[in-house]
Amino acid sequence: MGLTIGVDIGGTKIAAGVVDEEGHILSTHKVPTPPTAEGIVDAIATAVSGASEGHRIDAVGIGAAGYVDDKRATVLFAPNINWRHEPLKDKVEQRVGLPVVVENDANAAAWGEYRFGAGQGHDDVICITLGTGLGGGIIIGNKLRRGRFGVAAEFGHIRVVPDGLLCGCGSQGCWEQYASGRALVRYAKQRANATPENATILLSLGDGTVDGIEGKHISQAARQGDPVAVDSFRELARWAGAGLADLASLFDPSAFIVGGGVSDEGELVLDPIRKSFRRWLIGGEWRPHAQVLAAQLGGEAGLVGAADLARQG
Ligand SMILES: [Zn+2]
Repeated sequence: MGLTIGVDIGGTKIAAGVVDEEGHILSTHKVPTPPTAEGIVDAIATAVSGASEGHRIDAVGIGAAGYVDDKRATVLFAPNINWRHEPLKDKVEQRVGLPVVVENDANAAAWGEYRFGAGQGHDDVICITLGTGLGGGIIIGNKLRRGRFGVAAEFGHIRVVPDGLLCGCGSQGCWEQYASGRALVRYAKQRANATPENATILLSLGDGTVDGIEGKHISQAARQGDPVAVDSFRELARWAGAGLADLASLFDPSAFIVGGGVSDEGELVLDPIRKSFRRWLIGGEWRPHAQVLAAQLGGEAGLVGAADLARQG
């Protein structure tokens, strides 16, 4: 099989990209994300036909944020789009006339990193994506592990604090309430409120108020040494690393790959994640340690991974 298309459904844009067997993106086409489920099918078809111009395409892989069934055909449930048992594979196949597979977006991103990014050379890899929330993917024995019903690796909703913070999923104390971009903003606001004298750089980047603090300000301020911003990253890393130690108990991978917008900060966040991971790893003095690596493909991991999974059939 030669070229396939990967589709990434984002909050504001739907991107389709033609990907070759080495994971290179040859062409892309982006369209705005429509507000309705039906509109999204139209937009996927438009993006696929735009990207495929001048190429012979064998299959399409779609990365969707939500629970995708084990047949890789139906989105059982999506948190941000009104999809409930949505037969996305059938609908898109009718429109584009090509074989389509639907994958959970975090699984697709994990596969992309495993095949063409930081996970190359590893057989057993666990990925976490620190974005707005926390997503995950499991590759054990060189296979993407989706579980019996297709909905494995929802690490963000492992309950790490009994009776902890309320989560959007309806549960309490989920890991993503403590390790995610949203958690990072909360840490920074709490700290800036308590000790504004330690957040002068951070506050100067927004509108001057604690409420005006955004994720991008925290990154920028941390790079300039703002104590509140640096400490907020450390707090996020503490929770992320402790969670990785738990995942090591479950999966014993040779590498963890940390992706998502938060990981763009590189060693600023990865170094404290590694320290926390080692701190919480059971029997850490006496056993081999998994590497904790930064993702390499950035925002393209999901598109490249979905295209490659479509190629594998
Ligand atoms: Zn949750």
